[in-house]
This record gives sequence, C-alpha cells and structure tokens, in this order.
Amino acid sequence: MNYSDGERIASVLNDLGYTQTNDDTKADLIIVIACSVKQSAIDRVYGRIKNWNKIKETRPLIIAITGCLLPNDKPMMEEKFDLAFDISELSQLPSLLKAKKDDFKNIKNYFDIHPIPKSSFQVYIPIMTGCNNFCTYCAVPYTRGREKSRASKDILAEIKTYIDKGYKEITLLGQNVNSYGNDLDGEIKFPELLKQVNDIPGNFWLRFMTSHPKDMSDELIDIMKTGDKICDYLHLPVQAGDDKVLQKMNRKYTIKHYKSLIKKVRKAIPNISISTDTIVGFPTETKWQFYKTKRLYKQMQYDMAYISKYSPRIGTVSAKLEDNINLDEKKRREKSLTKIVKKSGLKHNKVLLNTIQTILVEEYDGKYIIGKTRSAKAIKALSRNDLTGHFIDIIITDIQPFSLSGKIKEASD
Ligand code: SF4
Repeated sequence: MNYSDGERIASVLNDLGYTQTNDDTKADLIIVIACSVKQSAIDRVYGRIKNWNKIKETRPLIIAITGCLLPNDKPMMEEKFDLAFDISELSQLPSLLKAKKDDFKNIKNYFDIHPIPKSSFQVYIPIMTGCNNFCTYCAVPYTRGREKSRASKDILAEIKTYIDKGYKEITLLGQNVNSYGNDLDGEIKFPELLKQVNDIPGNFWLRFMTSHPKDMSDELIDIMKTGDKICDYLHLPVQAGDDKVLQKMNRKYTIKHYKSLIKKVRKAIPNISISTDTIVGFPTETKWQFYKTKRLYKQMQYDMAYISKYSPRIGTVSAKLEDNINLDEKKRREKSLTKIVKKSGLKHNKVLLNTIQTILVEEYDGKYIIGKTRSAKAIKALSRNDLTGHFIDIIITDIQPFSLSGKIKEASD
C-alpha cells in the first residue's frame, strides 16, 4: 500500500512541477511514508532528519511525513517535520505546500488521484483502502480509516487502460482484499472482481495482496485455480502459531482454520508458492507459544516468510502491553524461523532445477536480467541484452532458498 501511496504522491507532485530524485542532497521536498506496524521504522526516519536539517541550513528543503500517522504521533511529527498529513488528505497537499495553488485540480479523494506508475510494465491497483480489523499491533484502522472499496467499474476501466498500453503485471492491492465490496451496496465481491480482471483479454499476469485468513473463501480458491492469468502465489499472513497469541493480536482466526486454508489451497493449486508474515516476541509470547509457531512453519513448508521482531507502534492497543521479550530473544526467535523457512524454500526450489520457467524481467544490471517467476521467485540469468519488461523462458540451473539462477531459453512474447 505504501508503494501505491508513493505513486499517488508522485502524481500530485508531478502536477505541481516536481520531478523525482533518489538523492536526498538534491531534493527540494522529501516526503516520508510512515509504516503502520513498525515503530522501529519510524525511529530510523527520526535519525535521518538530522541530515536533512543540515541540508536545510544551506538551502530551502521541505520535509513532510504521511502514511500511517496516529493522532498521538502527530504532535511529535509536527515538531520534527515541516508538514505532517494523513494520506487521506493527499488531495490537500498542493495547498499545504502553498505552491501552484491556481493550478490545483479539484481532486475529490484518494482514488481520484491518478498515480504515475514507476514502471512501464508493472502496476499496482488499489481496490480498497482502510481496514476494519483492528489487529492490536497495527495503526491502519486509525490512520487510513475503515474499509472503503472502490467501484469495480472504475477498477476494471483503469486496468484495461494499462493492458491496452501493454502492461504485463497487474497487482490488486488492499489491506484486506478479501473483504472487498462489503461496504458497497450491490457491489461484486473480491472473487468475482478477480475473475473479471482475469477475463480481460491480454497477455498479463495477475497478483493480489494482502489476504486476511479470516475472510479467505472457497470461492476465491476456485477462481485462483481456474484463472489462467492469476499467478500461482499466495501471501497469507499467519502472524503467530498459537491461538492465544492470535487472540491477543485480535486476528480473529485460529491456527486450525489457517491450516485448513493452506491445505485447500495446496490441494487446488499443487505448484503454488506460499509466503507469510510473522511477528516474533509479541508481548507475553512464551517459549512454548513460540515453539508452536516453529512447528507451524515446519508443517506449512512456506516458500518465503517476512519475519518481524515485535516493536510497539505507539498509539496502538498492543503498545499499552509491556514489551516483555528482550531483543536478544526476539532475534533468536527470528533466526530460528528463518532457518526453517530457508530449508522449506530450498526444498521447493529443488523441484524447479532443470525446468523451464517463464519470468517477467524487472531490471537489467548490464550483465544479468533480474525478474520473478509466476510463483514470485526471484531469479537472475546472464544476458547480453536488456530484456526488461518482457516475458522470457529460463532454464533453471541453480537454486538458493529464496532465489533461482538460470539461462535464457528463448523470448516468449
Ligand atoms: S488486517 Fe490487521 S494488520 Fe492488516 S491492515 Fe488491518 S489491522 Fe492492520
């Protein structure tokens, strides 16, 4: 979602005459997009402000922050930044920046702002914003508000324009895509939306994120199985392997339910690649409860996992709990899960050795093309040519737990 916010911010700034730079020292304006879960990410930004303030001593520079800002965060943010605004107030950015006021378009809401995609072949399409779930460690429901779905006709029309321009990969985005449409009378639900996007004629891959286990339906699994453009990849955050910890996180599902979903998905789509998110060291998580997460990892055989050490996000419910697991123990737990997922990742990748996989090339470093398979495996292959934006067939010659290497077979598009 932050990536998509970035594209929308870029669009507003582009209208104001700004161009992008990756070099802080050349920027006239720096906008930080804050994370919804990790306080540590916000703390790192505070560290960088010192450098930016040094730049401000020599020339004008505006530093702003947006994204997931809790009301409690705001006073401190307003002290440290020149501007602190909710992402829902993005349309007011031009007036906040007091620039080109006359050129300011009358933008009604977040979805009315057309993003500038950073890529000419991959695009993220937000289908909804906000969240109703109130996981105790997360700021999203407070910062982005409740779930707000976008009309399916607008989503489909936008996607068609990208397909017509030759885009090769569409990712539908939402904090919880599985509850898409629940807030709109008469609107289609997520499985039907996914089906209708899949049915748009064209040569493209279709991805979506993020799914919440409590809302994932059998109907969705059926569509994932039959949709020829839907990539065989599922990211299904589990967060913890123990029901009591899940309850404390307010995740609203049990491990039994989670396991039954993975079982159904693997049965329907045997080659699917599955990844997850996990927070280790949530307040009061005992060694036994963590052991259950380890056991779950062994059972689920994930291809990939995003493991975070718990860090209280100020203003959330869990931040009121004592952060009683020390950092060394959190690191130990993180390492222990990483070890398991490396093993299962390697096991899955071994099956791919000597097979031919189609990849979408995302970049070229002058020697290697780098991209992803349909199942979201990172891959690189030697190439004399820059094939960025093309589907290419690769023979897999080497594997790592989370990546593959290979050689080009032939261009397939
Ligand atoms: S589902 Fe939970 S973690 Fe995800 S955005 Fe909503 S509240 Fe945050």
